[in-house]
Amino acid sequence: MTAAYLDHASTTALRPEALDAYVAETARGAGNPSSLHSAGRRARVAVEESREALAAALGARPGEVVWTSGGTESDNLALTGLYRARRDADPARRRVLLTATEHHAVLDCVESLAAREGAEVTWLPVDATGLVDLDALAAELRPDRAGDVALVSLMWANNEVGTVQPVAAAAELAHAAGVPLHTDAVQAVGQLPVDFAASGADLLSLSAHKFGGPVGTGALLVKRGTALVPLLHGGGQELGVRSGTLDAAGARASAAALTAATGDLPGQAQRLAQLRDRLLAGLTQVPGAVVRGAPPGPGRLPGNAHVTFAGCEGDSLTYLLDAAGVECSTGSACRAGVPQPSHVLLAMGLEAAEAAGALRFSLGWDSTAADVEAAVAAIGPAVERARRARSSRGGRAHRRSRTLAGGVS
Ligand code: PLP
Repeated sequence: MTAAYLDHASTTALRPEALDAYVAETARGAGNPSSLHSAGRRARVAVEESREALAAALGARPGEVVWTSGGTESDNLALTGLYRARRDADPARRRVLLTATEHHAVLDCVESLAAREGAEVTWLPVDATGLVDLDALAAELRPDRAGDVALVSLMWANNEVGTVQPVAAAAELAHAAGVPLHTDAVQAVGQLPVDFAASGADLLSLSAHKFGGPVGTGALLVKRGTALVPLLHGGGQELGVRSGTLDAAGARASAAALTAATGDLPGQAQRLAQLRDRLLAGLTQVPGAVVRGAPPGPGRLPGNAHVTFAGCEGDSLTYLLDAAGVECSTGSACRAGVPQPSHVLLAMGLEAAEAAGALRFSLGWDSTAADVEAAVAAIGPAVERARRARSSRGGRAHRRSRTLAGGVS
């Protein structure tokens, strides 16, 4: 039996177009895109054609694409590079505005800037669906308050609950105050129409393995004229913003994957949303199941279904579902295994106990109706077992603590 893979937000399989492009480029043999000989120039053509394709699919100029190793590096380059550039130009600018629902690649980077480089974090509130409070952002950007703001960072779409943020409106507010905005669009690219120029964002992070490209390739889109202090020093590639030998095959495969992903975005989004709605309908048949995040529609990623199951541990559920041939996640795969409630759900106002029973199912380019039906069939028995296991563990713990207490008295 092949498992039903419903964890595309964590990573997707390579699209066939990406695999073909990767193999074809690798088969051409050696060639460093920075070398002057023929092999080097051929590899350079691969990188530049891929840059053009990536830019065209995302409403950017080719010169605005900086190749990176993925979403984490793009976020770190954006936040640290922009923070340092803004602070160096004016030491008063130290405030970073963001919500607590960002991915850890953003949160931990900003926390490191706060711990080591004098950044001050202002947390923007979100509502119960995870949507940022734009009035709170506007208040932080009032002329009497904006002078010390280094940057705003607002993710395009949340990786756990799928909520889509009003990036263009936030960028407009930021620009009116003379402040640049970064958006982490790692989950949005390939699922939603993403137009860099129209969004108004100054920096945009993306990662190829989320849309059917290879792991280890990504990009940061950098609006022309945005100052960034590089993180990686070396050969001076990417106009000195990101040193390191360019990956011609990774670039070819990423461009092929994105071209395929954006070829029929509305059709693919509609297909995923229909599958997702069927999945949500099935999951919410289980008593105590609550859908989290924005309601299905333009405010939510079409492939995202996020549900909490009262009285369960998400980790136990993922193991039980895995045993039943259904692969999903408790939320951010990057944090799986860490027994803490999701920071996203806590920021949305859930109690730790409610957040503990979270499951994220995420659909992607090769998801099928059979995957969805497998999850719908497996969820009821899995929740029942997880609840039974939890209450018998709870009962044992209760008896143990009474025995210990008795011993003390
Ligand atoms: N940002 C978001 C919203 C993500 O979902 C992820 C990965 O899950 C990342 C950043 C990190 O991307 P990468 O795995 O390419 O480093």
